[in-house]
Amino acid sequence: MQKSILILGACGQIGTELTIALRDKYGNENVIASDIRESTDTSLSSGPFEILDATNYDALEDIVMHYEVEEVYLMAAMLSATAEKFPERAWSLNMNSLFNVLNLAKEKKIDKIFWPSSIAVFGTNTPKEKTPQHTLMEPSTVYGISKQTGERWCSYYHAKYGVDVRSVRFPGLISWKTQPGGGTTDYAIEIYVQAINKGSYTSFLKKGTKLPMMFMDDAIRAAIELMESDGSKLSIRSSYNLGAMSFAPEEVAKSIQSMLPTFTISYDPDFRQAIADSWPCSIDDSQARKDWGWKPEFDLKRTTTEMLENLS
Ligand code: NAD
Repeated sequence: MQKSILILGACGQIGTELTIALRDKYGNENVIASDIRESTDTSLSSGPFEILDATNYDALEDIVMHYEVEEVYLMAAMLSATAEKFPERAWSLNMNSLFNVLNLAKEKKIDKIFWPSSIAVFGTNTPKEKTPQHTLMEPSTVYGISKQTGERWCSYYHAKYGVDVRSVRFPGLISWKTQPGGGTTDYAIEIYVQAINKGSYTSFLKKGTKLPMMFMDDAIRAAIELMESDGSKLSIRSSYNLGAMSFAPEEVAKSIQSMLPTFTISYDPDFRQAIADSWPCSIDDSQARKDWGWKPEFDLKRTTTEMLENLS
């Protein structure tokens, strides 16, 4: 099937692997990677690449028209930990980029949008275990507020203007190909890198901080499967809960020790602990399973094997 797909924020942790996966599926020339900065990853040179600021509507529209883009994956955003340092910049990037793609779809210049939300939409008063799809949401971070607001706008544009926007609430994502981009779950990547490089790791989250996590291959597959699913079966146009596994730092450490027995972990929590404490421990994703057949493939054991084998 031929279609033209544009990725905004393609140089990031998700965007890099998403670009490769979409090019494998739809052909290198049909997937246009773009970012506000040049790519340092040679794998993005397998097809078209454009320098593009996702908050610049006119520049975005030009690229969409030039390549006759049908689908947009919006990955440009400022993540949770960085956003706490630059609240206004985070709000402006996260909201304006979303409005730009929603308005392009409203004006029928593109057909379909994928925009990721996050478990950051929840807050301290949300039920922590098996957090339901529909529940109390009082996010306490700038990032969470921007994602929750984004969800409401996606739902609104779908209901009011028929915009085909699709979204999942990603948990913390674990990958080895690209550096993480300043999130609260980045420890779950650093721990593997340092296990290989140093044999020890000091976690910025304390023992017992259980958070929902997902291996990148599952996340990429989720995004593509949701985009390819039958739109008439999608009952959620804000954002789907999405789960795979949940663990605390000491559980990753134990899992690493099963392959590297001398690995040690210590704890030195910083400001990210408060962010993590406001997020759920595990997610009920039954609606995604029911509506479009979501099913994760990676548990902690398989993730650890993939991470350690590929990083070393
Ligand atoms: P990242 O920080 O690794 O990548 C974001 C990319 O956007 C970067 O390459 C950056 O250069 C680019 N960018 C920044 N400003 C831009 C602009 N104005 N125009 C164009 N590009 C710009 O982020 P990621 O981890 O790949 O996350 C992608 C999306 O997934 C975000 O919406 C994020 O909130 C969401 N998400 C990520 C995670 C995770 O664990 N990584 C979890 C939940 C949700």
